[in-house]
Amino acid sequence: MRFSKAFIPTAKEAPNDATLASHIFLTRAGFITQVSAGLYNFLPLGKRVLRKIENIVNEEMSSVGAQEVDLSFVTPTELWEESGRIEKFGKELLRFKDRKNNSFVLGPTHEEMMVNLVKNRITSYKQLPLNLYQIKTKFRDEARPRFGLMRGREFVMKDAYSFHSSEDDLDREFDLMEATYKKILTRLGLDYRVVEADSGAIGGSGSKELMVIADSGEDTIAVCSKCEYGANIEAAKRSARLEFPDAPQADFMKFKTPNVNSLEDLAIFFKVDPYYLLKTVVKRAVFEDSSEIVFFFLRGSDDLQEAKALNTVGALELVDVEASEIEAIGYKAGFLGPLDVEDVNCVFDIDVKDAQNIICGANEDEKHFVGVDLSVLKDAHFADISEVKEGDGCPCCDGELSYTKGIEVGHIFKLGTTYSSALKAEYLDENGKAQPFIMGTYGMGISRLVAAVIEQHNDEKGCKWTKETSPYMVNIMVSNIKDEDQLSFGELLYDKLQSSGVEAIIDDRKERFGFKMKDAELIGFPYTIVVGKELVNGNVQIFDRSTLEKTEVSKDNVYEKIMGLIK
Ligand code: ATP
Ligand code: MG
Repeated sequence: MRFSKAFIPTAKEAPNDATLASHIFLTRAGFITQVSAGLYNFLPLGKRVLRKIENIVNEEMSSVGAQEVDLSFVTPTELWEESGRIEKFGKELLRFKDRKNNSFVLGPTHEEMMVNLVKNRITSYKQLPLNLYQIKTKFRDEARPRFGLMRGREFVMKDAYSFHSSEDDLDREFDLMEATYKKILTRLGLDYRVVEADSGAIGGSGSKELMVIADSGEDTIAVCSKCEYGANIEAAKRSARLEFPDAPQADFMKFKTPNVNSLEDLAIFFKVDPYYLLKTVVKRAVFEDSSEIVFFFLRGSDDLQEAKALNTVGALELVDVEASEIEAIGYKAGFLGPLDVEDVNCVFDIDVKDAQNIICGANEDEKHFVGVDLSVLKDAHFADISEVKEGDGCPCCDGELSYTKGIEVGHIFKLGTTYSSALKAEYLDENGKAQPFIMGTYGMGISRLVAAVIEQHNDEKGCKWTKETSPYMVNIMVSNIKDEDQLSFGELLYDKLQSSGVEAIIDDRKERFGFKMKDAELIGFPYTIVVGKELVNGNVQIFDRSTLEKTEVSKDNVYEKIMGLIK
């Protein structure tokens, strides 16, 4: 490619709302332009990167036997009604009608469409397993599209769906997909971590996310200092405590607690570690056609993990409540406790099961109970609803957990029969009995990966593409194109590299050296060969974008040298 002919509109200014390096540099360097909130155009450089990532994904997916398909982006609303997901997805679904008044949805993911495709076409266990995938535009009308390609409304996803006749076979495919995703991310040159993920309300028996490690990541993940354990904070577990703070010694009784308005006040009032206080978090759980108030009880030293809490009540969302709403159902905000609660859905953190020496609200103004034995809550609803903290014990070894930030670039999920049952997609087993397909689903954010590469590989000057993702591997910069020797040597090298299959671009623009160098740094080609003043002495320079090192090389050796570097 000739820079002089290329459509690479670089700019000095970043978009006003851009805070992430990838958003700033991908826009400034002419990879993408914004159309509207969460909608982007890919320009030639951006399209090349996208295609490179797609090619790697295609290669790795087909090497493990997955078959590529391409399903309609426009999907019939009936399928979403049949699966029952229309409510779950809510406003993220972009719905419209055609001229015949038929209702459609722009596909945000394709489980329903894939199940419908396979239904009645795969009819026997002998035709299983099957793994079908596509690389396709998705549309989700996200509430807050932001960070450029990171959270778009229109974005590109690789979505794969596997069909099986046994759980064991699903487990095998799930592991294979995990291994394949790892290969893809390694090839892309990314530092990543596979973590346990929240399986959401859909349930399913296992789910993992692939997180690219970056400070700008929207997800918090808990990782072990010693072993491989890592989990999204929404799903992270911890080991049982081994050491305990001093317990308050008191017989069961009601205590007057004047001027105690918070958990901190309460801890000071009784001079006790918050571990022994029972915290009540009140939320309104919103369901399809109804809503209810829920009391979540957990130790004062813990915080409610909302995703865990949401899953355990199976609601669409949890919203905050006003003190007046609590009073309206006959309870006293600030003095809530679990004893004698009637007609309110109560959920207890697993860590308070059979807890002793507890101090909790007495459901009366300015009153608390002390010396509470929670083993009285025999048939209560216990669940893991608390958030792991840094310093908590790893659930798999004796290491400690700490937080790090990640960008979710992939999500693999054991679905089981949720969709096949809902859509009545069945095959005949060995005994001739109809069974719903056992399924897995495997998503990867292709356009998000473009941004993730830059989040991990950038500096104040711009992008630093990895070898597998760069739009061009080598940029040949002719410092002064009016100098015939420089230009002809540049052209010679350009032809030689191209005929060796190296993706090269020649910067043959009538611009100053400094200007061209700034563009090279901003765009971030791994190598720039500067053909400049030193050519008269037989030398050129190789500029390595990742290390910022400039090396003088004899013009006679530069071809061999660069071929060695790009290997
Ligand atoms: P997130 O938690 O980031 O909203 P998700 O859990 O909704 O993502 P999935 O339904 O698992 O996402 O989709 C599979 C993959 O698609 C994600 O792992 C992510 O890489 C990508 N993806 C999802 N939503 C977006 C988006 N709005 N913009 C770009 N990529 C996205
Ligand atoms: Mg996900």
